Parts: sequence; structure tokens; C-alpha cells
Amino acid sequence: MIAETSKIVSRLRRTRGTIGGVWCPDLGASCPIADGARVRAVGWLSADHEIISGEVAPAVVDALRLLVRAGYCPVAAAGFHTCELCSGARESANVLVPSGDVLFVAPAMIVHYIEAHGYRPLDVFVAAVTACPVPPSAAYYDALRPFGGVWGYVDDAWSRLLDAELTRATDAQRRAAATSRRKGFDWGDGR
Ligand SMILES: [Zn+2]
Repeated sequence: MIAETSKIVSRLRRTRGTIGGVWCPDLGASCPIADGARVRAVGWLSADHEIISGEVAPAVVDALRLLVRAGYCPVAAAGFHTCELCSGARESANVLVPSGDVLFVAPAMIVHYIEAHGYRPLDVFVAAVTACPVPPSAAYYDALRPFGGVWGYVDDAWSRLLDAELTRATDAQRRAAATSRRKGFDWGDGR
């Protein structure tokens, strides 16, 4: 595994002129968009550091992709992050995976790292992704409720923000379903 990983690392080239490449240790309590005792950084890779490679089940990748697309993150990135391993992907978003009393925080690029570079996140993160309620459900927003303090929100303000986001996401989902129906899309369940 080490030899294989070294080979991968040696193939990687640094990309000039990107704002990406912010490396953070896995499971550290700090990353560019969050820090605190409850934060667990995951997937802040860099061409300068060893990358753990291995298989990731397709269902885990799908769940992670859905968390990136439909999950909530209260802070926006300052700009685009170009994959510094290949320059072939750009992302500006991040993904939050609440798990009990800890919050995993990863760049959205983590999906690309897995699919294009064979990266395998730590088992504890894979387990959290698998167990995380599917966004944008009420259960997903409830799982985020302990973490407002990460960004300095007091409890009431954070709860109101999550409630508003849940309403917005639910409305958006309803509108998308209505649009699909208008276009004659057959849900196959009598809707
Ligand atoms: Zn790449």
C-alpha cells in the first residue's frame, strides 16, 4: 500500500495559480471553513502529502454526492478550488456530514478525489456518510443543530437559520417535482 501510494504521489504535479491545495490533517479540528473541538476535517488533500488509496463502495460515493448537492453549509468558499492533483476539476463548495456530536467537514472536491484519484477516506468518515440522514430531510437539518457554535451562531439564531433552510429546500424540492409533473414525467406511483 505504501509503495503504491508513493507511486501515486510521485505522479502528481503541483498546479500553479490555484487557491486550492490547503492541506489539513484528517480528523484535525480545523480546516479553511470551520474549526472547533467538534470539527473533524476530512479530505483536505494536497499533492505534497501522502494520499490513502483504496476502494470506496458506489453507494457511499452516491450518498456523498447527494450530501454535496443537497446538503447545507452556512459558509461559502472564497473562490474556486482547482484539483491540484490533476487540474481537471473545479469546486467551490464544501460538505458537512454531521455524526452525533462531531461534524465532518470536507471539500466538495472529495467526490472527485475518490472517483478520479482512488482516494479512500477514513472508515470513520465512510461510516458517518452511510449513517447520515438524506438531505434535505428534517432529520438531516436536526443532525446539524448541535453545530451552530462552530460558526459563532448562538442556538436560537442557528435553529432559525436551519428551519428557514429546511423550508427553502423543501419548497425547492416541491417546485422541482411540480415542474417534472408538468413536463409529463411519470413518477410511476400515481402522482
Ligand atoms: Zn483531480
